[in-house]
Amino acid sequence: MRILVVEDDRDLNRQLVQAISDAGYAVDSASDGEEGYFLGETEPYDIVILDIGLPKMDGLSILEQWRRADRNMPVILLTARDRWSDKVAGMDAGADDYLAKPFHMEELLARIRAQVRRASGHAKSEIECGPLRLDTKSARVTCAGQQIKLTSHEYRLLAYLMHHRGRVVSRTELVEHLYEQDFDRDSNTIEVFIGRLRKKIPADVIETVRGLGYRLAEATDAT
Ligand code: CA
Repeated sequence: MRILVVEDDRDLNRQLVQAISDAGYAVDSASDGEEGYFLGETEPYDIVILDIGLPKMDGLSILEQWRRADRNMPVILLTARDRWSDKVAGMDAGADDYLAKPFHMEELLARIRAQVRRASGHAKSEIECGPLRLDTKSARVTCAGQQIKLTSHEYRLLAYLMHHRGRVVSRTELVEHLYEQDFDRDSNTIEVFIGRLRKKIPADVIETVRGLGYRLAEATDAT
């Protein structure tokens, strides 16, 4: 999953990027409204964390313009404390959730997980796929009850496929949703990571759909 953080407070921006990337997401960040607007307009984010008070272009205008252009990714607004009018305006502008400053990072991470789940149609924080079980809360994957050790890139890849189980996910989509903007996106690396994952989980769990991409079966019997 790839997340955009738009926040002009430098310290908070840095803390957000750190905490979100530690939680297993790819993160891009912008420190003013124009840059944030541009990134959200051109890059495919799974979620955006958007501050309301920003230089050059405010958060509500950004959100309204994205929605008008049919950019439908979940957006969590960061609002100043107790500004109920901001919250109302934010929800009306198309926000999916909001969080008042100051907030605990754990709460933001829980709200991110909830939005990711909702966007991919899962109600529970655990996603099962044959013998695999993804606990989105602890960012752990088990196979037939045994924990699988994954690097952060392997985790991102497997978690993305599990969130979108039952559907063919193209290599391009994976590259766009797993890596930061600055990452050297050689799409061959996806095949390398798929190969590594197949050594750690039953090899037939990830199906290669020739010419199209990869798919995890919606429901298979755990054997
Ligand atoms: Ca601000």
